[in-house]
Amino acid sequence: MSLQIQSDVSLKPYNTFGVDVRARLFAQAHTDGDVREALAYAAQHQLQLMVVGGGSNLLLTHDIDALVLRMASRGIRITHEDCGTAVVEAEAGEPWHPFVQQMLARGLAGLENLSLIPGTVGAAPMQNIGAYGVEVKDVFHSLTALDRQTGELREFSLDECAFGYRDSVFKHQTGRWLILRVRFKLSFAATLHLEYGPVRQRLQEQGITEPTPMHVSRAICAIRGEKLPDPAVLGNAGSFFKNPVVPAALAQRIRDLHPGLVAYAQPDGQMKLAAGWLIEQAGWKGFREGDAGVHALQSLVLVNYGSASGLELLNLARRIQADILERFGVVLEMEPNLY
Ligand code: FAD
Ligand code: NAP
Repeated sequence: MSLQIQSDVSLKPYNTFGVDVRARLFAQAHTDGDVREALAYAAQHQLQLMVVGGGSNLLLTHDIDALVLRMASRGIRITHEDCGTAVVEAEAGEPWHPFVQQMLARGLAGLENLSLIPGTVGAAPMQNIGAYGVEVKDVFHSLTALDRQTGELREFSLDECAFGYRDSVFKHQTGRWLILRVRFKLSFAATLHLEYGPVRQRLQEQGITEPTPMHVSRAICAIRGEKLPDPAVLGNAGSFFKNPVVPAALAQRIRDLHPGLVAYAQPDGQMKLAAGWLIEQAGWKGFREGDAGVHALQSLVLVNYGSASGLELLNLARRIQADILERFGVVLEMEPNLY
């Protein structure tokens, strides 16, 4: 038996909000064998098993009466290479940003816009992580998951993942699929995506006229560093709400009243509203009650100034949701996974 199971463990170091709840049991999985052992242990003791990666998309609102299994498997390998592209496989426990940096250092492009996102490779397909106009689905090849119901391995192709905006089949079948490793199709010849937000402008300001993927990554790291709180300094889980996609007529009604509305047309004719703008307009930016607050520079991010509980953060989120619904008629959906 290689799996080390500890009891009554604080999960504070294992969630980026820094919420101090306890797990009845806690273990780290370094291999597929560890994962199977944990599943067998949980079944034998009639316990739930909760899988976590970096804990950067979690809001823990109570002690977890389960075996919490942190994915810590490591390994990155090229499984296929031709003159223009490579398929790279990474184990679920690989930290995301160092993986991105390693690919760039090897001359492989495609992940640069997803730089500096916390968390693990295994969690990236869960909500089809996205930033600056690129989503995991754009570079996804396939993944291997363990069916927790049958114990069988299953390969998922791009179509089978049903990726959507911060969404996938895995988010809907919670607790069924345990992602073991993910494969990405990367390219030696870069097609850069610079049209989003301030990326192109930042490169121009730096006098970079022929950017490489590494330049883009550095620019995005710099932009993110200026706006987003570092979880090591101030607890947070990134954007707390998804940007709502609403009918064009509703967006127009809001714009009639608030001409500064930030909204982007979607291919289906609907409009994606910047949730951060709505929250800021409603006066929540920089709000703080106890140790739960709304970040002073980015109102889409809820923060824990120290000892906020998960329930305090959840209550704040619910107050914001109710206020935005009342003021703008817009439903804000929470992004982090609630436990
Ligand atoms: P966790 O939080 O540990 O888990 C998230 C969910 O996935 C849980 O339900 C968990 O059970 C499940 N899960 C984890 N690993 C596995 C696995 N191997 N198999 C099955 N289920 C699993 N997200 C973006 O999309 N774009 C961003 O730009 C972005 N920026 C962020 C910035 C900051 C400062 C922070 C704190 C967060 C940000 N996020 C962003 C959110 C978060 O980093 C991502 O969603 C990330 O992919 C979560 O990875 P994780 O390993 O921390 O997952
Ligand atoms: P921003 O640049 O201030 O823009 C605000 C929102 O408008 C973004 O969330 C983005 O939506 C949307 N947007 C901006 N330019 C757009 C364009 N050209 N076309 C369509 N939509 C556009 O956003 P930010 O908060 O600083 O974040 C920058 C990027 O990092 C965004 O992509 C954001 O999603 C990502 N991010 C995500 C998290 C997270 O936890 N999920 C945390 C931090 C940053 P989208 O969100 O749909 O891209």
